[in-house]
Parts: sequence; C-alpha cells; structure tokens
Amino acid sequence: MSETGVVDSHVHLLPGRLGAKVRSIFEDLGGYRLAYEAEHSAVCEQLAAEGVSTIWTLPYAHRPDVAEGLNEAAAATAASDLAVDVVAGATVHPGDDDPVGVVRRAVEDGGARVLKLHCSVGDFGPLDPGLRPVWDYVEEVRLPVVVHAGRAPSGVSDEEDLAPLDELARRHPEARVIIAHCGHDQERHALRIVAEHPNVHADLTPVVNRLVQITPDDAARHADRLLFGTDAPNTELTAARCRAHVDGFGLGPEALGAVLGGNARRLVADVRS
Ligand SMILES: [Zn+2]
Repeated sequence: MSETGVVDSHVHLLPGRLGAKVRSIFEDLGGYRLAYEAEHSAVCEQLAAEGVSTIWTLPYAHRPDVAEGLNEAAAATAASDLAVDVVAGATVHPGDDDPVGVVRRAVEDGGARVLKLHCSVGDFGPLDPGLRPVWDYVEEVRLPVVVHAGRAPSGVSDEEDLAPLDELARRHPEARVIIAHCGHDQERHALRIVAEHPNVHADLTPVVNRLVQITPDDAARHADRLLFGTDAPNTELTAARCRAHVDGFGLGPEALGAVLGGNARRLVADVRS
C-alpha cells in the first residue's frame, strides 16, 4: 500500500451478479444517476484520476452463508491489477454457521484488513449475540470494523440505530469501530460516541447524494479519527466532490493528511496477522 496519497476507505467492488443487482437497486428503484461505471477497472481508473491512491473494498452480506464467497471475491479483487491499491475487506453475517471462523479465514488466508457489517442489508444489530465471538476476535487482532448501523433502506440512521454502538464500544473497548457515513443524518450523535470512546472512528462517506454534515470545529477536534470515503461506485457524488467537502473544513495540513489517508493507513498497519 502506498505510504502517502488519499485513501478512500469506503468503496464497494462487489462481484459480478451481486454488483449488478446492487447497482440496479440504486439506478432502477432509486432513480439515481451514479457517478461511476460498474466495472471495477473503470471505477479504479476514475478514482485514481481524482487523486485516490488506495481503496478499501467492503463486501456486505445480506443473508447467512454468502460472506465466505464475498470475502474470497474481495481477496481476488485486491490481488488483481487495478489503477489503485486495494485493501481487501471482509464481511460476516451473525446467522453464519461459524461467524468468527469466516472472519478469521478472511484475515489469515485472504489478507483482509478491515471488516464490514451492514445492519440494514443484513437485517441485524451490531450487538447480535452471533457476533460476540467476532468482536472478541477483532479486539485481539485489532481489525478495524466499518459498521453501517442505520436500519433504514435509504441508508440513513436514527438515534436508536446508533445507541448500540455506544454499548458495543463499552463492551469491547479495544475494538476499532468505524461508524459508516458518520451515522448520517445523526452526525452529532455519532460524534458524541466518537468523543466518548477512543477507539471509535467515523467515515465521511456520503449517503448516495447527501454529504455528511459536520462542522469545521468537529472535523478539527476529531481529525485523528475521521476517514475519507465515497461509497464508489454506488454514489451520485464523485471523489473530487467529496474531497472538496473535506477541504471545506479548513483543516491544517497534518489534520487534513490524517483524514484523507493517515488514519486509514494507521488502522490497517495496526492489524496483527
Ligand atoms: Zn457503503
């Protein structure tokens, strides 16, 4: 992985049929005009042209028994020749036979360096008892976990969706949790959880066409735990647009570097494999 440059910590290079199905939900059902092509190579070329050097590809499981295949596909994508460096993500569903085994294999055999939990797509909560051994494991190996806590199909969160993350951080204080979309549109609530728990982070990924709403003061205060992200290819907003939004916080060079890549690189480097 490059030592410098922008890291997009929230990208979904999903495999063939699933990728197409997710696209059609956004385009045909949602009526959105997505800013990226579907093809992985085209997504990566466009991101590279926008200044991104590394991406995290985050699979997500909508039901039990699919995570393992998605994780293998993510590992293959990360190993393929693309215009950006790709960090393999993994996913798991609490209904899987052996959730912690799924995650351990993805890390140890597939080289995954981040886990994604998608609560609305998978229809589960972050405190689901099936995930308890997973949380123990991610604490042990310091695997960062991106949690999309919102349960609404639109991608937004409400207060009740975020409350379990506070409890989770209490139960698993060593877990490196990243609140996806900064809990949009509950950004203030998400940042309260970030402020209270030193291992909780948040990504600044928009929800389709809605930019994360935080103040420049918030951005400066939490610059060591905010991560740049786009949701490419399933977004109406380009990385350039997201970058302009972050630039608008007026951060100093060190804080800006942390948000645009330093924090993501540190989280990945910290994983014990
Ligand atoms: Zn996403």
